[in-house]
Amino acid sequence: MPDTGLSDEQEALRRTVAEFAREVVAPVAARHDEERSFPYEVVAGMATMGLFGLPFPEEYGGMGGDLFSLCLAIEELARVDSSVAITLEAGCGLGAMPIYRFGTEAQRRRWLPALCAGEALGAFGLTEPEAGSDAGGTRTSAQLVDGSWVVNGSKAFITNSGTRITSLVTVTARTSPAGGDVTHGGEISAIVIPVPSDGLEVGPAYSKVGWHASDTHPLTLTDVRVPADHLLGERGRGYANFLAILAEGRIAISALAVGLAQGCVDESIAYARARRAFGQPIASHQAIAFTIAEMEARTHVARTAYYDAAARALAGRPFAKEAAIAKLVSSAAAVDNARAATQIHGGNGFMNEYPVARHWRDSKILEIGEGTSEIQKLLIARHLGL
Ligand SMILES: Cc1cc2nc3c(=O)[nH]c(=O)nc-3n(C[C@H](O)[C@H](O)[C@H](O)COP(=O)(O)OP(=O)(O)OC[C@H]3O[C@@H](n4cnc5c(N)ncnc54)[C@H](O)[C@@H]3O)c2cc1C
Repeated sequence: MPDTGLSDEQEALRRTVAEFAREVVAPVAARHDEERSFPYEVVAGMATMGLFGLPFPEEYGGMGGDLFSLCLAIEELARVDSSVAITLEAGCGLGAMPIYRFGTEAQRRRWLPALCAGEALGAFGLTEPEAGSDAGGTRTSAQLVDGSWVVNGSKAFITNSGTRITSLVTVTARTSPAGGDVTHGGEISAIVIPVPSDGLEVGPAYSKVGWHASDTHPLTLTDVRVPADHLLGERGRGYANFLAILAEGRIAISALAVGLAQGCVDESIAYARARRAFGQPIASHQAIAFTIAEMEARTHVARTAYYDAAARALAGRPFAKEAAIAKLVSSAAAVDNARAATQIHGGNGFMNEYPVARHWRDSKILEIGEGTSEIQKLLIARHLGL
């Protein structure tokens, strides 16, 4: 690991999580991947360490850290297991953060302590079968009837929505009496739906290419009734508020991608030293050494990009463009490194018993989730006035 200029406290956190990843996460990662099981025991360990409360103030049960400390933890987890890393990223960044950022004091006090303790998980329901990149096209609706929101619609690909400890999903829904999406004058609001709720159906887990130990389900909402005070943030600001959450989320996903990219470097160095071909370790072949050098370079550049975006966000400076750049370059680095690491492992790279095979399957989603690479380019281009 390069000298990253972390403070003593940050370096201590990084080391603690790295040790946990090596000793607790790594030994069970392949089994959970194979069985497609949610790693409750690992999540409980992360909860004990306080990881789910990292970026939240102590008064709500958090650790009093910040977005950057969360990113450091996510990076170290993703170095060995992306499913565990995305469970933390989605739990903190998408589940709890909207409540903290936009919730009333009563909503914070009701939901945050269990989320920060890692005893409960929150989910974020933006994507719909017909509205992903174009999330302003949300079709889910919520109408105020006799003091309750009545919510109808469906959501797709919702992380952490179906675990035994899921306590809520915050959904975006059209609340304009006349309908109409945001691009046509309609309003979208965010509403907290407790899990379970009558009328909320959590569909069967998706069969995914990767992230096998992460929990992902479709949701159907049929006349789900929640009290009026479950509105999160101002009425009509739900879409804008979710976009703000996604901007920070991109930095955290970038950290996850950097972790995966670094994990590929780690595995490739070890394998290239041990594996012999033509009478010498394959690391002695310059083609292999150069490949690993390129992997390390990509990882370093991607890490620098997310450190920069996080520093801007924490300093209260504009960071949307830098977050999009970090997400774009680090997800590409993760995919490129996973492909290269698999190649370095030869036939073994295609065998699930080797972590690089899992990294390879886990990498592709990084160019899709929380805004595709095309959407990141769109955001960067807009910042350039294009
Ligand atoms: C495992 C997993 C977990 C997820 N977790 C969550 C979650 O917790 N909460 C949640 O709300 N969502 C979640 N998502 C959804 C994810 O954010 C979306 O899949 C993603 O934003 C892309 O939306 P889409 O799938 O509808 O693709 P589409 O929007 O249909 O895009 C299809 C293709 O068209 C391209 N495209 C679209 N518009 C443009 C444009 N204007 N210019 C150029 N290209 C364009 C896209 O880049 C993509 O290549 C998850 C997805 C997965 C797979």
